[in-house]
Amino acid sequence: ESPYDTAVDSFQQDASKENGNGGFNSEVPFKKLRVWCSITSAEWKLGNIQFISGQNVHVSLSDGKTLSVSTKNILPANPDILIDVDDLIRLAYLNEPSVLHNLQYRYSRDTIYTKAGLVLLSVNPFRRLSLYGKDYVHAYRHKLIDTPHVYAVSDNAFTEMMRGNSFNTFILIINVKDKADQSIIISGVSGAGKTETAKFAVEYLAHLGAGNGIENQVLQANTILEALGNARTSLNNNSSRFGKLIELHFSEIGKICGANIQTFLLEKLRVVQRTTGERSYHIFYQLCAGAPTHLREHLNLKTAEHYKYLMHSDCLTIDGTDDAQSFHTLLEALDNIQFLKEKQYNLFEMIAAILWLGNISFSVIDNENHVEIAVDEGIKSASKLLGCNEQELILALSTQKIQTGQCSTVKKLTLSEAIETRDALVKYIYYSLFIWLVEHINMSLGVGNVEITGRSIFILDTSGFGSFHKNSFEQLCINYANERLQQHFNRHVFKLEQEEYMQDGIDWTQIEIVDNTQCLNLFEKKPLGLLSLLDEESAQSSSNGLTFINKLKKCLNGNPCFKEKDGAIGIFHYAGQVWYTIDGFLQKNRDPLHSDLIRLLLSSTQEFPKLLGSNLLDNSQKKLSSYAGPFVYVDSQNQCVGTQIKDQMFKLMQILEKTTSHFICCIKPNNKMSSGLYEHDLVLQQLRCCGVLEMEKISKSGFSTRITHQQFAERYGFLLDKTVVSQDPLGASLAVLQQFNVQPDMFQVGYTKIFLRTGSISALEDSRNRA
Ligand code: ATP
Ligand code: MG
Repeated sequence: ESPYDTAVDSFQQDASKENGNGGFNSEVPFKKLRVWCSITSAEWKLGNIQFISGQNVHVSLSDGKTLSVSTKNILPANPDILIDVDDLIRLAYLNEPSVLHNLQYRYSRDTIYTKAGLVLLSVNPFRRLSLYGKDYVHAYRHKLIDTPHVYAVSDNAFTEMMRGNSFNTFILIINVKDKADQSIIISGVSGAGKTETAKFAVEYLAHLGAGNGIENQVLQANTILEALGNARTSLNNNSSRFGKLIELHFSEIGKICGANIQTFLLEKLRVVQRTTGERSYHIFYQLCAGAPTHLREHLNLKTAEHYKYLMHSDCLTIDGTDDAQSFHTLLEALDNIQFLKEKQYNLFEMIAAILWLGNISFSVIDNENHVEIAVDEGIKSASKLLGCNEQELILALSTQKIQTGQCSTVKKLTLSEAIETRDALVKYIYYSLFIWLVEHINMSLGVGNVEITGRSIFILDTSGFGSFHKNSFEQLCINYANERLQQHFNRHVFKLEQEEYMQDGIDWTQIEIVDNTQCLNLFEKKPLGLLSLLDEESAQSSSNGLTFINKLKKCLNGNPCFKEKDGAIGIFHYAGQVWYTIDGFLQKNRDPLHSDLIRLLLSSTQEFPKLLGSNLLDNSQKKLSSYAGPFVYVDSQNQCVGTQIKDQMFKLMQILEKTTSHFICCIKPNNKMSSGLYEHDLVLQQLRCCGVLEMEKISKSGFSTRITHQQFAERYGFLLDKTVVSQDPLGASLAVLQQFNVQPDMFQVGYTKIFLRTGSISALEDSRNRA
């Protein structure tokens, strides 16, 4: 140990005698001079205690001023030698200002990664740092560097997977025997850096597992999915509007032999509608800016300003982003995954068709608001690209056939109905394109013909929790999904860990944890959870926003996470309260497509739109819910959107539960997306959401390694000096611990397992490897 480590250790020992929880014991302020004074709930100032009178402490601040505060408003500060620790566990005083300050100090030196016990924290630098690439991969793989990093987490996952995980030294999993599969779960608010972090993790694993080129295709797949699934929002210039689970399969010798990408929750609405200042999906702007002449002519393509779907949100470009250049990168990526030129044409035809559909002009022809569609450039180009007859497209978008018994009548659509019909078609086409591409990507990643080896690493990157100026159904779905992931995190980092201590009867004082069960109940409880109520109401043809909100009020008012005010609902999420406007909830949940539109697609002379139509036809023959009438649900099981999402999340959880999870929490240091700026209250709120303090307390006093007596004896028993003879596993285990001089405070013996503190197993592993 270096003198620095020794100094730190001795300080920590002193401190831990005095405080267990980052606060003071009664008389400590008298002794310890360095303190944090709380100014507001997220602002502290560092100072030294001058003197104390009654309940007041007089503190001289570093800027020379003095302050008199109540003893309640001060917390002990760490000494200077502990100002820059790479694992927060090493802080002698674990309290919010100390954690906040430590992260800030490191951030100001571009040290963006810090461990908090089992979890890696990553503070978004908002600029490229030279911390990545081949040399760093090499250094982390060969343990030449041991500072926290997304590469280190990826390396851990890889190593554990290869070891086959006979026991787990990082995170506890109960009752599941074969847990060689690993997952890297990346969480954080929108713009915190999840997607970038996921790319670094894939990059690292791709380097390690390089061999047959699949690794390169996974990286290319990212480029394609980002073009179609990412967009500029007010919170992030490259916000993922879908979630993805990347699955890498490895061979016995650790080479990538297959991969698969699952996606969920694509926000379709964005293609037709979004808030001012935000953009639609990148691909639209990339195509308009970068398409070569022959493609432009084929698509009758104009620049982005020409299209209403792009113009309406008043934001066409992103500072620092070259859409034309990105288009070329996209083309390269499509080539790389063997997406044939002909299919690339299909893709761009549909993207252009969407843009032209947006330009269709509806004119109101009577005082009932019925519409007529003019044959103009919009209709002509759209029908040509969709391969259907102009008149049929006009009819499908301005009228609806209604079947009553044997007779069918034709109803004219009003302006808002016509726009809704057109937008529904557009959303369906876009969503289908996305799914079609994902399927193609997966084919090229070879999942079909790959033997599942039982060695996989899953990397999860979702749309982050977010609260916008105005939030609707889409945001509710994303925030619900985040709520589910948060529960997985809580369960693994806090709950299961402590439960196991209890079950095995070791000494342990329960640490209170952040718990989001009530909020999840609000969504999922049967029959009276928000999602079931939404489905129930969506199935009624007579329902509307008002009936829905009344139903919610009646059934959910008992839940403390729920509030209603002026037709909006407020939900207390783990990451803060969000208000949602109810407008359009029912329709967005039903997400219907009129059967006339299916017939239109089926009539196409082009293969691809026809395919979209026939996919839907298959679905519509399955039983529809009572509301459906002439509509079909776009989903393959004919479910409402809310239920689909719930099912997707359950499936995702099932996958993750079968893996050993490694967690990375990304933190967004400011809302201006600018580098170097660290906003205390914003960071603090995120630290509280992921329970950083609780996490550290558990890690600090917890036992990160646990092995059954039997496994311990089998693994290390042979290291015993020949003179020691012990028959039973427990006896052998204790003898090993004694022989290796593991101190009594470093382990506990439970009914079935030996629990060891972080690091205490390393001497045993070293000897075992040498033996
Ligand atoms: P969302 O939930 O909206 O998808 P996110 O958490 O995925 O958000 P990212 O898109 O990964 O956020 O990050 C936002 C931006 O922050 C990136 O476009 C990039 O500019 C910057 N960024 C994030 N992480 C890093 C990093 N490690 N190095 C450099 N820049 C980064
Ligand atoms: Mg993202």
